[in-house]
Amino acid sequence: MRHYNPRKRILVTGGAGFLGSHLIDRLIERGDEVICADNLFTGTKRNIDHLHGHPRFEFIRHDVTLPLYIEVDQIYNLACPASPVHYQHDPVQTTKTSVHGAINMLGLAKRLKARIFQASTSEVYGDPSVHPQTEDYWGNVNPIGVRSCYDEGKRCAETLFFDYHRQHGLDIRVARIFNTYGPRMHPNDGRVVSNFIVQALRGEDITIYGEGQQTRSFCYVDDLIEGFIRFMDLPRGDNGAPGFPGPVNLGNPGEFTIRQLAEMVIELTGAKSKLVFRPLPSDDPMQRQPDINLAKTHLQGWTPAVQLKVGLTKTIAYFDSLLADISNNCSDTSS
Ligand code: NAD
Ligand code: UDP
Repeated sequence: MRHYNPRKRILVTGGAGFLGSHLIDRLIERGDEVICADNLFTGTKRNIDHLHGHPRFEFIRHDVTLPLYIEVDQIYNLACPASPVHYQHDPVQTTKTSVHGAINMLGLAKRLKARIFQASTSEVYGDPSVHPQTEDYWGNVNPIGVRSCYDEGKRCAETLFFDYHRQHGLDIRVARIFNTYGPRMHPNDGRVVSNFIVQALRGEDITIYGEGQQTRSFCYVDDLIEGFIRFMDLPRGDNGAPGFPGPVNLGNPGEFTIRQLAEMVIELTGAKSKLVFRPLPSDDPMQRQPDINLAKTHLQGWTPAVQLKVGLTKTIAYFDSLLADISNNCSDTSS
């Protein structure tokens, strides 16, 4: 008799990016087989280099705006640039990635009857008038601004996920992710945590947009990935009905002004950097804080454990060694 193998075959789109590569590590660690599909727009092979040649890992260079025909048990759909600098670089492609990407991945999940996870975002709340943000708040989003390609793209992807759920009984999991940071963010990513750390380590001025009074809530990557996996592993409902679809906020409710973050980075790096003030980009939300009660209730008491100072210290150590490698490689090639 053949032995039953509980190992799952899992597709992670955007798996060469910051969050995707951490997720893949966790899935491989617990014994799953993982296929990473990524067009390497903002991701890098460096993030998954350590998995090269692993018998349960496969990389496919693929753009999710095109259909993908493979056989898997679960899909995590993370493909999409997350940094405002990158998603605004080619806004039409950003909307296509969210919308066509969702249609393609949902179509795949429907054919395979596979459970599918969507990496949605706190940006669906726009510049929120409800604080902290709860999942039943519909948001305050500009449909025609420079951030709209991302915000509205992700909102439309949520609509598609819920329509596939209602219309086809698809087992969906929609997570609204709040600002997450950690090792493997790209040094030129443009998001605030990586910008400030790289600037401090290089002894450059720290660029605060606006007066730095806007707030964000920062979650360390390991806490977030734990939330992803608990959410995706929730069993189906009675009689095989789809399980808890969300949307559910995942993030750390600790709220800091951008100025406080800059001061903390200076303190932890010991940098002599000055704070400099630059114009606030348009539609930049003034405040962000997740209400995570729904996640706590459904995800067996999930709650972020890593304090900002602890997470920043680990992230600073990562960038310190990355920047040293980059400068050694530059001096190698110049000699
Ligand atoms: P990231 O930019 O590091 O990773 C995104 C990955 O998607 C990259 O590897 C990129 O190459 C890939 N990609 C982009 N367009 C693609 C396409 N058309 N086809 C295939 N691959 C494509 O960003 P991240 O922080 O790892 O974010 C991952 C997901 O989580 C994104 O969907 C993002 O919107 C969402 N999210 C992240 C955060 C955060 O704070 N990190 C917050 C909210 C939502
Ligand atoms: N920000 C900043 N300096 C930087 C990069 C970003 O002051 O070098 C600000 C940005 O204007 C925003 C906040 O930091 O108010 C978070 O920006 P990020 O791009 O990380 O993510 P967002 O939450 O805006 O998508």
